[in-house]
Amino acid sequence: MAIPIVDLYWLGDPSDMHCPVCGSAIYKMDEEPTLCEHILFTHVDAGDGFDFVSPEIQKQVDRAEELAEDDSEDPVAELAKLLESQSIFVLRYTASCGPMGVAASVGIQFQPSSQ
Ligand SMILES: [Zn+2]
Repeated sequence: MAIPIVDLYWLGDPSDMHCPVCGSAIYKMDEEPTLCEHILFTHVDAGDGFDFVSPEIQKQVDRAEELAEDDSEDPVAELAKLLESQSIFVLRYTASCGPMGVAASVGIQFQPSSQ
């Protein structure tokens, strides 16, 4: 079963993003992101794609990128189909700037495997 993608929409300027588990700032305007242990990956649509990938899911991310390239699909959606876990979900933040909008996705793991 695929992991869920939760869509959130910014109506104005993007607000800071915090990890829903521990509250660390994932994205903050003009600041370096803090990647806490709950973050499995970060992905920005308009940017370079996956910015950060945890080594545990590197294989699935590589596969998702291949699949997405073949089918011109969203790599995050492909990745969600490849990951099977009840403790992972994706928060996808969409900001409307211009006609396209920009989406930032973060994979959150509730129970880090290191614990
Ligand atoms: Zn956290």
